[in-house]
This record gives sequence, structure tokens and C-alpha cells, in this order.
Amino acid sequence: MLIDTHCHLDSYQFEHDRTDVIHRANNENIKGIVIPAVHPSNFNAVRELAHSINGGLYALGIHPMYVSDITDSDLQYLEKHIEKNIQDGRLVAVGEIGLDFFVDELCTKEMVAHQEHVYRSQLYIAKKYNLPVIMHVRRSQDIILKHLRSVSGVVGIAHAFNGSHQQANRFLDLGCVLGAGGAMTYERARQIRRLVSDLPDYAWVLETDAPDIPPAWLSTKSNKNARNEPAELCGILRVFSELRNISIEQAVHQTFQNACRILNLNDF
Ligand SMILES: [Zn+2]
Repeated sequence: MLIDTHCHLDSYQFEHDRTDVIHRANNENIKGIVIPAVHPSNFNAVRELAHSINGGLYALGIHPMYVSDITDSDLQYLEKHIEKNIQDGRLVAVGEIGLDFFVDELCTKEMVAHQEHVYRSQLYIAKKYNLPVIMHVRRSQDIILKHLRSVSGVVGIAHAFNGSHQQANRFLDLGCVLGAGGAMTYERARQIRRLVSDLPDYAWVLETDAPDIPPAWLSTKSNKNARNEPAELCGILRVFSELRNISIEQAVHQTFQNACRILNLNDF
């Protein structure tokens, strides 16, 4: 049993064959798919989609790459949405939230301050409703950690983790887990691969981030932007088990337990 802890299944890239994509995932024993929202405009879509599929789960939040038009009234709207759905067993986290210091337009002084404000406000919402967070962490590990530490009591997933050993340990010390996906399937990704093999059993959950971050076997010279999908989680699992030098069964067990623990999926 596997859980894809991060999949943008509502993306337009699945518009024409979403049913087939879900069918392939079900055939591969993928028991849960977490669909994170990115902006108030897709809150309803992710909730409805999660409810329409077997094992569909969702998170509500505002992604750092979509914060430019976000105001405090959007943050209130998010909180209202969470309050309204807090009894919904399929709502598992506040996400996707975080900080992106890779994209130039998001790195002006004002935008950095705005990103931090939106991120921090959402950490407080997570704390208030006792939900974990799904974090987008791009060139922002230390600032993400600083806010997590200062808000305190919030745990979650550092999605597509790509930091140092020391940063990984800081997330783990705070009770968070790290998301491993397509990036570790590339041999050149030495640092992530080393971390996947070295960190303790409780460190990792698996994710595809579909339609993004296609694994090595999908990405060819002529098709660098191949579409990823949740069924690819099986290949990702295989690489994960090889890197950790454990059996497929052990890899399934570890990552499933970790996902259930961090997302409070008690009777999943
Ligand atoms: Zn994402």
C-alpha cells in the first residue's frame, strides 16, 4: 500500500485522461493520493476531486508561487474553508505553503516579505486547527525552518526535499518528514540519493508531485517536460528501496507508516 503524498491531480495536464490516470494508480496499489491546493481559486476543485476518487485526500493552502495577488482576506477565506471542512476526514493538511527563493520575481524585498507573511499566517492556521503542513521549500530551507520553529508545534512534510544533511536533521528534530520523489531517480542527484540512503526509517514519505518532476525513465532528451503521474510512484518506490538497501515490502511499510503518522490517517 502506497500513498502519493503530493500530486496535483487537478492540474489541466490531466484534463483529458484523468480517469485513466486514476485507474492506473489504483492498479498499482496506490491507496491514497494527497491533492494540495495552490490558490483560493482551486480550493473547491481539490476538495471535490478528492471526494470523487478512491483514497482521495486533499490539503488547502496558498502556494508561494501564487502569492502575488493574495491579501489578508484570502487568508481569512482559507481559514473559513478549513473551519468548514475540519470534520472532513479527507482534509489532511494545510498546503501547499512555503517559500520560493528561486523565481526572480518572488525575490524582491517586498515579495520576500509578502511570501513570509503568507507562509507564517498559514502556519498559525495549521496550529489553530491542529493540521500538519505540506511545505514547498525552494532555496529557502533555513527561513522555512526559522518560522516553523518560532510558531512551534506545527509538523508536516518538507516536500521535494533538496537540502543538506544538517537541514534534513533540523526538519526531523521538529517532528517533520521529508518528501522523496522523482528527483532521487537521477544518478546525478548525489546529495539527495545519499540522504535517502542515510536518514533513519522515520524520515521519508514518497510523492510524485505529478504532473511535475518526472522520474529519470520518463525524462528523455527530446522530452524533458514529460508528464509525471501517480502510477510512477511504484518506480520511485523501487529506487527508494534500492538506495536504502531494503526490500520493497520494507520500503512500503516505512513510507506508509510515516505518511499515516504525519497526516493523522489513523484508520486509513
Ligand atoms: Zn506541489
